[in-house]
Amino acid sequence: MANLPQDFLEERKFMVARQLRGRGISDRRVLDAFETIPRHLFVPAEHRISAYADNPLPIGFNQTISQPFIVAYMTQTLELTGDERALEVGTGSGYQAAILSALAAEVHTVELIPALAERAARTLACLGISNVFIHVGDGSQGWKASAPYDAIIVSAAGPRVPPSLLDQLVDGGRMILPVGERGGQILELWRREGESFSHETLLPVAFVPLRGKEGV
Ligand code: SAM
Repeated sequence: MANLPQDFLEERKFMVARQLRGRGISDRRVLDAFETIPRHLFVPAEHRISAYADNPLPIGFNQTISQPFIVAYMTQTLELTGDERALEVGTGSGYQAAILSALAAEVHTVELIPALAERAARTLACLGISNVFIHVGDGSQGWKASAPYDAIIVSAAGPRVPPSLLDQLVDGGRMILPVGERGGQILELWRREGESFSHETLLPVAFVPLRGKEGV
């Protein structure tokens, strides 16, 4: 029998049922994206077997791919319908960007570490994902060249909300991000209405630091 590469479909379905649906993720499009995107291709080979576990995993350079539930929770909160231009800060492995690619029209993602950006670009290309644009730079200042964005998701935590990111939201736009120091971070959801902004706090999290001019 041919030695076929493992596709981890059963593990993926189990992850969606237990970790996502079981904890209140109910947006059908979000659940479908998690069932489709092969998370194991976004983690280093030595962690592939644990790719669908209920925790973050190392991806090198002292960085991590976030826990599936947190990726799903943040994604669902953005209430994407398919027409949006989205920005992600902190590409890392490219997994969150791949999930967003299935839910929005166009995804821009910014990564500070060039080697991670290159690896993520290769993974996305292998999967034939063509609506994600990876940029290398300081995402704490957003990515002005493609602004404004309907939705922004920040995958690293800074001590305060970067003003540039608020600036780059469209009227009616939403942004989800972790805010706070290590050991005391909270996910916050921000909304723009004209020139005013409102926000709510959601749940405690533990992200790697958001570096850069408007980060730590
Ligand atoms: N979303 C990623 C994924 O799906 O694999 C995980 C992101 S990891 C938790 C956080 C990432 O943010 C790291 O890759 C780190 O290098 C990056 N980062 C930290 N500060 C940044 C900044 N100012 N601009 C862009 N990326 C930054």
